[in-house]
Amino acid sequence: MAEETIFSKIIRREIPADIIYQDDLVTAFRDISPQAPSHILIVPNVLIPTVNDVTAENELALGRLFTVAAKIAKDEGIAEDGYRLIMNCNRHSGQEVFHIHMHLVGGRPLGPLLAK
Ligand code: 5GP
Repeated sequence: MAEETIFSKIIRREIPADIIYQDDLVTAFRDISPQAPSHILIVPNVLIPTVNDVTAENELALGRLFTVAAKIAKDEGIAEDGYRLIMNCNRHSGQEVFHIHMHLVGGRPLGPLLAK
């Protein structure tokens, strides 16, 4: 069994977070340390530690991440200018929370994709 992270507590509303969307499959909340004017984390409600742990059973929830990202980008007013969706996996990416999450980042020009 994978160990729960703080994100499970946020999903169950046991600890505070600025939740902006939730349904039966995914939850979206503002990142506690925003890197841009809009920085939102969209997470599956079920615990999947890393992208390496994804199975076919997760496809519905993971597809929902994208439809919710598109809705939130519109709601935030950043859809036309554009934004970046990021999902880190393990050490080399800098993943810190082992409950997969899509970062939706936008509201300013974001520069090159990768730091040198
Ligand atoms: P990672 O590096 O794992 O891709 O990103 C984890 C993200 O979760 C970071 O951007 C970090 O600021 C955010 N984060 C970590 N703990 C919390 C928390 O308790 N609440 C919220 N809203 N965001 C968190």
